[in-house]
Amino acid sequence: MTYDPNNIFARILRGEIPCNKVYEDDFTLAFHDISPQAPVHILVIPKGQYTSLDDFAANASEPEAAALLRACAKVAEIAGVTGTGWRLLGNVGADGGQEVPHLHFHVFGGRHLGRMVAKPS
Ligand code: 5GP
Repeated sequence: MTYDPNNIFARILRGEIPCNKVYEDDFTLAFHDISPQAPVHILVIPKGQYTSLDDFAANASEPEAAALLRACAKVAEIAGVTGTGWRLLGNVGADGGQEVPHLHFHVFGGRHLGRMVAKPS
């Protein structure tokens, strides 16, 4: 899939759309989800232009890959859920339910999160 430079997260990275920032380093940005599904719901994204985890795993550098993973745990720590537990979720592609075509991980926490995968309705 070709990267769409006008996707919503690309526009957040360029500062064209505001976000509620939680964490930033050279390679990653984390911000609160606009429609939180749990008391803690933070999105962690690479600054590089990667459509999905498939794309990132194939093409990202080792420093980018390490930074993204470490940023997820850092965000959980900042949000105060390291002790109580939390969930890292990455939706990939159509069946995965990925809506925004820029790689992102969801960090959820702040309550018991229930089943790992919802049953089909
Ligand atoms: P996906 O379904 O692609 O894994 O998740 C996309 C997430 O992006 C959703 O949880 C949605 O609420 C969030 N989102 C969509 N647009 C915006 C936005 O403009 N700002 C923020 N902070 N989150 C957004």
